[in-house]
Amino acid sequence: DEALQAGSFWQRSVADDGNLERSISLMGELDAALAADQIDVYYQPKYDLRKRRITSTEALVRWRHPERGFVGPDVFIPLAEKTNRIAPLTLHVLQRVVRDVADWRVLHGSVTAAVNISANLLSDTAFNAQVEDILLTSGVPSTALVFEVTESAAMSDPTSAIAALNRYREIGVAVSMDDYGTGQSTLTYLKQLPLNELKIDRSFVQHAHVNRADSVLVRSTIELAHELGLKVVAEGVEDRACLDFLSACGCDLIQGYFISRPLPLGEFVTLLGEDFKV
Ligand code: C2E
Ligand code: CA
Ligand code: CA
Ligand code: CA
Repeated sequence: DEALQAGSFWQRSVADDGNLERSISLMGELDAALAADQIDVYYQPKYDLRKRRITSTEALVRWRHPERGFVGPDVFIPLAEKTNRIAPLTLHVLQRVVRDVADWRVLHGSVTAAVNISANLLSDTAFNAQVEDILLTSGVPSTALVFEVTESAAMSDPTSAIAALNRYREIGVAVSMDDYGTGQSTLTYLKQLPLNELKIDRSFVQHAHVNRADSVLVRSTIELAHELGLKVVAEGVEDRACLDFLSACGCDLIQGYFISRPLPLGEFVTLLGEDFKV
């Protein structure tokens, strides 16, 4: 029942962040923030190692809070997921992204944009209908979009999640498995989900060029993904040595501070215009 659920939610929040008051008021403010346009979207490039150019970008949400300053997604996304605000938030991001893609497509037609979709939203039929509506009325082809889905033991309803992903694939959206290696049902989902791309989590990538275990995991994951016909993105690449290692392993795309931090739209488009190469 609702009161009980609310009760356990607050308990978890307290356990999670140790600050009940902050969590409660943040969630009240998130609705207002959406209305007041305090929610921004930044873009972090994905760089194609063979084509030697930026071919895609990931939309990362930012909250400019008038009093608290910047509130990071690591704080408010988990709260939004627990309090049923993740659907409106994600739709807000998607709307922004299709508008921005339409903007840069004039000059950079092939650059796609990835949106993070919480796994539990996939079985939300009202959400899925609104996503289709946004895509079909956007004027941007669905093939310009990628949905990044985190493998998650919390995926409450795998059957309907798979159906939703199949539907997205049908209309042209590519599907990427995010944070690969950190979940609990890795191989099951790899087999079941209709994927185009696999993103190896930063925790494996960051030291892959200096740590024997990580290097073996990264190398064999790239091989496995290629055998399954998937593109591989390595996230969290922070230096040249790491890039060189990934390049030698046949990794397709890299993302991370070595290429660029997440940027506001204007700076991202400038970077595209500079024909940036590493
Ligand atoms: P993620 O999807 O794994 O996104 C990558 C995170 O790693 C981003 O943090 C990014 O800024 C950071 N990062 C990128 N390159 C590097 C690097 O080279 N080194 C290091 N140390 N970090 C790097 P951010 O923007 O704080 O986002 C955190 C998480 O919040 C994301 O993790 C994602 O799970 C979630 N998130 C962000 N935006 C959205 C959204 O619109 N919807 C949903 N559902 N989740 C979102
Ligand atoms: Ca992501
Ligand atoms: Ca990720
Ligand atoms: Ca990650």
